[in-house]
Amino acid sequence: MTQTINSVFEAQQQYKYTLRNTNAAQRIKKLKTLKASIEKNESSIYKALQNDLRKSHFEAAVTEVIFIYGEIDFAIKNLGKWMRPRRVGKSMVSLMAKNRIYYEPKGSCLIISPWNYPFQLMMSPLLSAIAAGNCAILKPSELSPSTSQIISKIIKECFEEQEICCFEGDVTVSTTLLNLPFDHIFFTGSPAIGKIVMEAAAKHLTSVTLELGGKSPTIIDQSANISNAAEKIAWGKLVNAGQTCIAPDYILVPEHKEQEFIKAYSEATQRLFFKNNQQINEDAYAKIINPKHFKRIVALIEDATSKGAKISYGGETQEVSQTINPTLLTQLPSAANIMNEEIFGPVLPIITYKTVDDAIATVNSKSKPLALYIFSEDSKNTRHIINNTSAGGTCVNDVLIHISNPKLPFGGVNSSGMGSCHGIFGFKTFSHERAVVFQSAMNMSSMIYPPYEGKSWVLKLLKKLM
Ligand code: NAD
Repeated sequence: MTQTINSVFEAQQQYKYTLRNTNAAQRIKKLKTLKASIEKNESSIYKALQNDLRKSHFEAAVTEVIFIYGEIDFAIKNLGKWMRPRRVGKSMVSLMAKNRIYYEPKGSCLIISPWNYPFQLMMSPLLSAIAAGNCAILKPSELSPSTSQIISKIIKECFEEQEICCFEGDVTVSTTLLNLPFDHIFFTGSPAIGKIVMEAAAKHLTSVTLELGGKSPTIIDQSANISNAAEKIAWGKLVNAGQTCIAPDYILVPEHKEQEFIKAYSEATQRLFFKNNQQINEDAYAKIINPKHFKRIVALIEDATSKGAKISYGGETQEVSQTINPTLLTQLPSAANIMNEEIFGPVLPIITYKTVDDAIATVNSKSKPLALYIFSEDSKNTRHIINNTSAGGTCVNDVLIHISNPKLPFGGVNSSGMGSCHGIFGFKTFSHERAVVFQSAMNMSSMIYPPYEGKSWVLKLLKKLM
């Protein structure tokens, strides 16, 4: 495997110079080819997502496949504009010059993706890499093998290895890839592995985009409409059984609203994810990816209850089908592991607070989250929360939906990530913004050349005009 990886990498080192010179029409053709192959393989993609995660056709269509069609179409529509060198203003010494920003491809890129939205999270950075004119090596997750296989098939159908190549496999494949001097690494996964990736990249001074995770809080304030908030949170928390990087991880509710929220959340959950109000509707509710993660989440519940937390709703688990029912935990001690690590499952801890500033202090006591949600009808409170916290992205009176707009950057901050993707932000991630100055014959640069005697007027002028 190492030999094959090295030879594909070497081939891409040559081919990246050819790709640099592709124009918008040529790249659009590649994006269209990719879209056509996805369309052709659509039913296999749904089958793979069903195998890996028990994702329903509808959920997979909305959150993985149609999502990618939308992103490809958006890139096709805008690529000509994105690629155009951007004019910028002049400086004193380039007064007569043309000043431009060129978007040059980074070159050869490595894209490593996780298992939770295994199709979308590989295709989204890939289409941005293609739009920006790069070669890429892809490493999908070994924990979603059916989807990794279909990704590999699509890539083989559309591209020569010297342009895009997919290597399936586990950490050994990642480690081999991470030893190579790529021009850029785009990694989506956990903060712990993000650190390994960044360390490996540092050896070659390779630039990185890290799309990571963490604990995304939701603050519900006094003024919020609780039943509306509960339904939206139930959907955002339980889609893909909570295995969503921007799922609400825990909820902060005013003390006297806790019971109302528990009632509204359990009712919403029954409506959305159960059949006849009793049995989980497996067509709407994914399984936990594998036994290891199933046990990890069960252990989080057990640890919390052993330290005094209460299961206020749900708590049922079925090991054979790797299903954990929607669960609410209350009375959580801060020492509970569930309050200190990303849950990535359908368990929602509720923390009560007295004042909004207490809620803000809880959020700020943890690492900066990938998402922060606010439910409030009070614009002053909303502004106060936004101004006094930091997060990759925020929705007010909703959850998750910021990811669906390609006009918004998607990414984290510090431990939830660095850099961003989607739309022009993805294009720029895979491009180097190169400053290019076309000097004119009539230029003023020489005024700053030596000898400096008698040139104090230049300093005075520069102080005024720079
Ligand atoms: P992970 O970090 O365990 O794995 C991600 C990828 O890294 C996989 O392809 C895996 O094979 C590879 N990998 C694993 N160990 C490695 C190592 N030692 N060296 C190099 N590569 C290695 O993450 P996961 O469990 O697949 O996904 C869940 C995590 O991803 C959560 O933290 C979640 O929040 C995050 N996530 C973030 C986003 C986002 O857009 N920010 C999206 C989805 C998931």
